[in-house]
Amino acid sequence: MQISTTANPSPVDDARLAEILAAPGFGTHFTDHMFTVEWTPGRGWHEARITPYGPLTLDPATAVLHYAQETFEGMKAYRHDDGSIWTFRPEQNAQRMVRSSHRLAFPVLEPDDFVQAVDELVRVDQRWVPDGEGEGEKSLYLRPFMFASETFLGVRPAQHVTFMVIASPAGAYFKGGVKPVTLWLTEEYTRAGRGGMGAAKTGGNYASSLVAQQEAIDQGCDQVVFLDAQEGRYVEELGGMNMYFVFDDGHIVTPETGTILEGITRSSIIELAGKLGRQVEERKLGIDEWREGVTSGAITEIFACGTAAVVTPVGSLKWDGGEAPAPASTELTLQIRQALVDIQYGRADDAFGWMHRV
Ligand code: PMP
Repeated sequence: MQISTTANPSPVDDARLAEILAAPGFGTHFTDHMFTVEWTPGRGWHEARITPYGPLTLDPATAVLHYAQETFEGMKAYRHDDGSIWTFRPEQNAQRMVRSSHRLAFPVLEPDDFVQAVDELVRVDQRWVPDGEGEGEKSLYLRPFMFASETFLGVRPAQHVTFMVIASPAGAYFKGGVKPVTLWLTEEYTRAGRGGMGAAKTGGNYASSLVAQQEAIDQGCDQVVFLDAQEGRYVEELGGMNMYFVFDDGHIVTPETGTILEGITRSSIIELAGKLGRQVEERKLGIDEWREGVTSGAITEIFACGTAAVVTPVGSLKWDGGEAPAPASTELTLQIRQALVDIQYGRADDAFGWMHRV
C-alpha cells in the first residue's frame, strides 16, 4: 500500500509532550498524526495517507451515525529499554478486524495493509511512545477503526468505507500495584446471542454493555460479568476482558468462544500456560460452578485478561441478593501476568515470536 504523508506543521512541543507522557491517563491525548484510507466498490482501498490529527467533517446522513456500521481494534506499542518500538501480535488484531468486518458486511482490509498502516503511524509519531519505565507499563495505545462513511439513509452494506488509525499514550492501568477487580453479575442484561455480534469488535457490542456496566459501578464494583443469552447460566466475559478459572488440581478453564470476543491476550495465555506446564480447557463454565467453586476451594484463582489490564486477579462477585468471596490465591495469575509483560517490554525471551518490530 502506497502511503502519502503530510507532516503536522504545528506538532505538540517537547515540553508539553513530556508533561503528557509523565501522566498520560487513558484515551484523552492523541498524537500529532492519523492514518486514513478509503474504500469504494469501483476502486477498492485508495488514497492511503497520514495527515495531521484533526476532526472529521461528516454529512448528517453518514450511514454510521444511523446504523452503527463500525468495527475497531485495540492494541499497544511498547518501547523497549534500548529505545526500539514493538507491537504485540499485530497480525492477530488485523485478522480479528477481518472477522469483525465480515460480520458488519464491510470490505476486507488485508492484514498486511492493516499492519503497515499501524507501523507507519507509530513511526511518524514515535516520540509519543512512552518509556516502559520499570514496572510503569506505559505504552502507546493504538486504535484502528473502520466505519460506513457513505452519505445515504438506506439500510445496506456501505458503498463508501473509511479505515483510520489514531494513537493515544496510555499510563499504567493500575496505579500503585495490581489490585483485584470486583465484579457485578448482571442477570437482567445480556450482550450477545447465538449468531449475534458478541465475537465482533464493533461499537454496538459495547453500546449494549454500558447500562450493565453502569449497574456494576452503582453497586460499587469495577466490571460487569455477562452470562449467555440463551440459558442465562454460563459465564461469557466481562465488559472488556476475557476470563480464566484455575482449579485446585492445577487445570485451567476459559469460556469457549462463539458469542464472546476472542481476546488476543486470551489466546496468548493458552499458549503461555502450556509452556508453564498447565493445560487450558475451553468449555462452558456455569455461574453456579463459579459460586460453589470459590466457596468450596475447588477454584483457587480467577483472573481477567485483555490488552488494557493485561492479566488481573478477580476478587469477589456480587449479584442481586448475594456475594461470593474472592478466590484464595493470585499466585499463578501474577506469574502469567509477569511472563506476558516481560515479553511485551522485551525483558524476556520472545519464545513464541509474538513481538513485531515497528
Ligand atoms: N472481551 C471484550 C469484550 C473486550 O473488549 C476485550 C478487549 N479488546 C477483550 C475481551 C480482550 O481482548 P484482547 O485481549 O484482544 O484485548
